[in-house]
Amino acid sequence: YKSLIPDGVKVMAMVKAFSYGSGLFEVAKLLQHHHVDYLAVAYADEGVELRQNGIHAPIMVMNPETYTFDNIIEYRLEPVIYSFKTLELFSKAVSRLGYSEYPFHLKIDTGMHRLGFTNKELEKLIERLQQLPWLKNKSVFSHLAATENKNEDKFTKKQVSNLTYAAQQLQSTSKEKILIHILNSAGIERFSEYSFDMVRLGIGLYGISNSGILKEKLMPVLSLRTIVSQVRELEDGATVGYNRKGRFEHGGKMAVIPIGYADGIM
Ligand SMILES: *Cc1c(COP(=O)(O)O)cnc(C)c1O
Repeated sequence: YKSLIPDGVKVMAMVKAFSYGSGLFEVAKLLQHHHVDYLAVAYADEGVELRQNGIHAPIMVMNPETYTFDNIIEYRLEPVIYSFKTLELFSKAVSRLGYSEYPFHLKIDTGMHRLGFTNKELEKLIERLQQLPWLKNKSVFSHLAATENKNEDKFTKKQVSNLTYAAQQLQSTSKEKILIHILNSAGIERFSEYSFDMVRLGIGLYGISNSGILKEKLMPVLSLRTIVSQVRELEDGATVGYNRKGRFEHGGKMAVIPIGYADGIM
């Protein structure tokens, strides 16, 4: 992935959802050892856990629930601000706790229609941010909806231009450099010309190329292994398991493995 993006572009490694199920702290620790620029988690409690385990790299929290703001500040986590409501509540928390230049990230909704400010709200947003000098806008970003779908490339480019517009407006009223980022893994694979200042590498980090482009070059980072506990011969008409779902019309040999739905394997 680094070979696809221009030199100097930062990498934010997504370690949300227990590092895509592969071990939150273990993956974060390895990435920190390799001087990753940024880490990102979905929820504040994931970030707190990383801090409590000695992770000192910057951590962005994508869905910072308002009741976690004090915790976020106490553990030096950087929330994504995506609405006027979250902006006001976070600003109050920072000012109450007496911090200055507290970093946050702005999410712009450019077409995904999940979280984020729209460009129609920009003017009001910029006006409000100028009244909150104890907050420091570290980055402005958006998320692409259809990076894997060639038929939607026009939509993808429109999303990029919406973000570029928002970033220009925000930067023009800020003394400090605001980082711009929009690419996820498939975005890096297909649109590396839009790397801007940083990319957000997720599933690709774990060896999976959703677009298929890097399939040959990526290696799986984990595998799930088990053993055969027992091999049995079953008679004609025998059934196996809950609700008798497995049917042996003509009998046969079966193997039992000690793994199942509690392990996430149906
Ligand atoms: C999960 C996520 C990513 C990473 O996406 P991948 O497709 O796994 O690379 C990037 N940005 C945001 C906002 C995300 O939620």
